[in-house]
Amino acid sequence: MAPPRRGELSPEEKELLRVIATGNTEEAGRLLGSKNVRVNCLDEHGMTPLMHAAYKGKVDMCRLLLRHGADVNCNEHEHGYTALMFAGLSGNKEITWMMLEAGAETDVVNSVGRTAAQMAAFVGQHDCVTIINNFFPRERLDYYTKPQGLDKEPKLPVKLAGPLHKIITTTNMHPVKIVLLVKENPLLAEVEALQKCYRVLDLICEKCMKQKDMNEVLAMKMHYISCIFQKCVTFLKERDDKLDGFIKNLLKGRDKDGFPVYQEKLIRESIRKFPYCEATLLQQLVRSIAPVELGSDPTAFSVLTQAITGQVGFVDAEFCTTCGEKGADKRCSVCKMVLYCDQNCQKIHWFTHKKVCKTLKEIHEKQELEAAKEKRKQEKKQKKDEVQPGESSTTDEEQSAPGPDATKEVDPNHAADRTEEAELTKESEALALNPDSPLEKDRQYCVEIQGLF
Ligand SMILES: [Zn+2]
Ligand SMILES: [Zn+2]
Repeated sequence: MAPPRRGELSPEEKELLRVIATGNTEEAGRLLGSKNVRVNCLDEHGMTPLMHAAYKGKVDMCRLLLRHGADVNCNEHEHGYTALMFAGLSGNKEITWMMLEAGAETDVVNSVGRTAAQMAAFVGQHDCVTIINNFFPRERLDYYTKPQGLDKEPKLPVKLAGPLHKIITTTNMHPVKIVLLVKENPLLAEVEALQKCYRVLDLICEKCMKQKDMNEVLAMKMHYISCIFQKCVTFLKERDDKLDGFIKNLLKGRDKDGFPVYQEKLIRESIRKFPYCEATLLQQLVRSIAPVELGSDPTAFSVLTQAITGQVGFVDAEFCTTCGEKGADKRCSVCKMVLYCDQNCQKIHWFTHKKVCKTLKEIHEKQELEAAKEKRKQEKKQKKDEVQPGESSTTDEEQSAPGPDATKEVDPNHAADRTEEAELTKESEALALNPDSPLEKDRQYCVEIQGLF
């Protein structure tokens, strides 16, 4: 069959494009079996069936097309869009990941010079940006598990490739999270293993900077993880409490306000030690961090995270105070000012949080009080407005018009009480420690923080 040309579609291929939009994989599978259907056919804009499926967010359809040999890097689109770009535009994380796994190139640019990550960022699909920027194909790491050139041994033992790959593809680069990931794998949590790993990371960093399509973001990430690994080695060698000692240092807050000074300094130092001082990204980071006083915002961690994952701001997601993981929803039940993933993260943090918890509690109560005052004030104002609907501009009329919802607002205090109560029970459920914990250590800890739950 002739190679696909733009707009030259057989009737069956036209039918396939129609079926893709419906998401009917069974019918699509049947059509793909037809000899009149080429999986990489092009519509009049140069879009392949895979691009259509990615753009419409049809996960199963994408999988089916890839299984039938769809070319993930087809670049015949009239504006140079690739399937990965369409995935990023759709905002579908699973499809974005699938395209990357299928070998999608991340450095390709469209006709106006934008990469897939940049396009996804442009339309606000930040989760897809994060996925693209942090993708690192396993094969690129596996390269180091084979002896190269004159080496007798590979630079990276095969058994370390898996755990190392997990760490370098993580989108949460919080130093505590990285140390926890190291700790969780006994193969990795050894001096020699970590030394091998950070040397490989340094090599990858160098490659990222010297290759034709330079990738400063990935280079910085590799360098940063390498720095954390090097510190792990120091603690493993010099401290009796090994990596736990490192975590403690990372979390220890200063007396004044609980700010983790060591952590901030370590991240700043890691960035500064980036060996390619001409890199634009480095200069950008230093410019953002250098003028910030220790303890003020933004922290080096948030600046670094933003640069590497493309995450803009930390507005709509809650992050764990201990390990920086997104989506933390357990609150310290005393101060209600800090969040954790789970009790484990809370335990790790308690030794230092307990020093500021009381103060934070006072701040929180003050805030609550002020919020309540403000609420009452507004309610009063609202009631007043309701009484005098006469004097009106057009917007006032709209607001004070008695609608079907008006009756709901009769007893606002009662409603507020109810939600507060519900929240409290939710919290105490969330953080209640199991008093029957069999571990003596846990019990001791329970006694220490009993007042909290
Ligand atoms: Zn956590
Ligand atoms: Zn607290």
